[in-house]
Amino acid sequence: MESTRSEYIEVRDSKIHNNGVFAVKDIPKGTKIIEYVGNKITKSQSDKRSDEILEENKKNSSYGAVYIFELNKKYDLDGSVEWNTAKYINHSCSPNCEVNIIKGHIWIISSKDIKKGEELFYNYGYEYDDDYESHPCKCDSKNCIGFILAEEHWNKVKKSK
Ligand SMILES: [Zn+2]
Repeated sequence: MESTRSEYIEVRDSKIHNNGVFAVKDIPKGTKIIEYVGNKITKSQSDKRSDEILEENKKNSSYGAVYIFELNKKYDLDGSVEWNTAKYINHSCSPNCEVNIIKGHIWIISSKDIKKGEELFYNYGYEYDDDYESHPCKCDSKNCIGFILAEEHWNKVKKSK
């Protein structure tokens, strides 16, 4: 299948992690930039797939990207497919994009005005669990918390230090 495309972005090398997604033109806040696509899977397939991806990541890198989004109570979306361009967007503690589900579709939407040439980021929103330290963040932003974590859990990390 052909990779998804958007007039706003391109994929190239990133300082943060292998590939990154960059703006090829100015993007106003609130723009639907690209859809996050993949295979619709049931919750039980999803649990299995998450474990598999985590195992693969343990072998290949310490980054720990999981690529699975919750669509609704029944289904998740596995975005670890070749044609999903949005999966190359890196995590940051100071993101300029957010992820929204609109009518059953997952969209990457700009949460700030983005200038041509800037790299796109969203917060991967990982849950706080015993394993959070295995997902270090290297985003280099001023308020980097040091781990890939949903912002609602940041206070727990600060307290434990
Ligand atoms: Zn960070």
